[in-house]
Amino acid sequence: MEYRFPEVHPDRQFVAVFNTNRCIACQTCSFACKSTWTFSRGQEYMWWNNVETKPYGGYPHHWDVKLLQMLNDANPGGQTWDTSQESDAAPYGEFKGMTIFEAAEAEGKENAIGYIPTDEDWTSPNLYEDTAKGPKGVPNEYHPEGAQLPEHNSWFFYLQRICNHCTYPGCASACPRSAIYKRPEDGIVLIDQERCRGYQKCVEQCPYKKSMYRPNQQVSEKCIGCYPRVEGSDPLTEGIPMETRCVATCVGKIRLQGLVDIDETGGWAEAPDNPLYFLVRKEQVALPLYPQFGTEPNVYYIPPRWVPREYLRQLFGPGVDAAIERYSNPSRELQAVLQLFRATQKIIFRYEIEEGEEIIDTEINGRRVHLFNDTIIGFDGAGNEAARISVEEPFHTREGDFPGQFQNSI
Ligand code: SF4
Ligand code: SF4
Repeated sequence: MEYRFPEVHPDRQFVAVFNTNRCIACQTCSFACKSTWTFSRGQEYMWWNNVETKPYGGYPHHWDVKLLQMLNDANPGGQTWDTSQESDAAPYGEFKGMTIFEAAEAEGKENAIGYIPTDEDWTSPNLYEDTAKGPKGVPNEYHPEGAQLPEHNSWFFYLQRICNHCTYPGCASACPRSAIYKRPEDGIVLIDQERCRGYQKCVEQCPYKKSMYRPNQQVSEKCIGCYPRVEGSDPLTEGIPMETRCVATCVGKIRLQGLVDIDETGGWAEAPDNPLYFLVRKEQVALPLYPQFGTEPNVYYIPPRWVPREYLRQLFGPGVDAAIERYSNPSRELQAVLQLFRATQKIIFRYEIEEGEEIIDTEINGRRVHLFNDTIIGFDGAGNEAARISVEEPFHTREGDFPGQFQNSI
């Protein structure tokens, strides 16, 4: 794949894992982001973080369907994966189709194919909220026999979306002013507001539609990865790197965000005790969104268990089946690492696990299931303990007049 700039890699990369199985679409993340960064005049329709209901929802409207259609038009029927040859470097096989960059080359266009959404497309960011796909493809038609795993007949799920701080950002290669850059210290992708002239090439060529135009300032703006928090330069953090606002406020505890070290080849340096490395590279339970676009996004998703696999493979690639299997029957280590989601606002760079007693030994769906009350300890950027949480979470009982009768009360 051709990319406009020479191969350069940051020392560390901003990475996040979102567990779609846990999201309740409360939109706390969306409002935490908006109230921090996009509350000003000219940003009314700007949601750097949004949560959309799939399959029908999208912000801007139908952004992904439009991109998939453009790719298919450029390469009719050729957007396929070859999963016959898998390796450590290509755990899900090889994509045989065209990325957004290759499709542009084939069509004699600029760096990447894309489109500029209309003003109407940016309105109603939560259109089709909770609209299920029915068994015959009819919205909100419910199956008479209800829903059962492994795939529900009527289904929807919530997709949380921020800028992916891509390894090969479509936005950066698109900019004729070279105003977009990837920071060497953390891989966060930023738009230099002094250089930007508002040509909107980034809006057009970001396949995820996460670069947005601000008409009253005549510049484009995008998610900045809450870089003051990630740097630890937010005055509140006393020099300790903190998670982004959308991650730190997540009510459903679905988000984990941090940094991974990048080696000289551009790959992730081996770090099995980094929770993000563990989830993405070792356990391979989290997958990138639309990897076929070719930008190498750095936000990874644990796919929803109940959604038809064919649909999920289109979104997350052929690793979906194995990822769902691993999430549904988690290893002892994965059970502990999942407890780190939202255990602290500090970025966890490393974890240790203290083994605990076996608390469950049973059979579920014909499988032997063992659960251990291990304790996971997360360490912050200064190497200090930032989180300590056991698999069996603390159980609080209200005392007073009714001792032992009420749960989770103070
Ligand atoms: S705050 Fe968390 S649970 Fe709520 S919508 Fe956002 S990602 Fe989902
Ligand atoms: S998601 Fe879009 S805006 Fe963000 S880095 Fe990738 S191409 Fe650029």
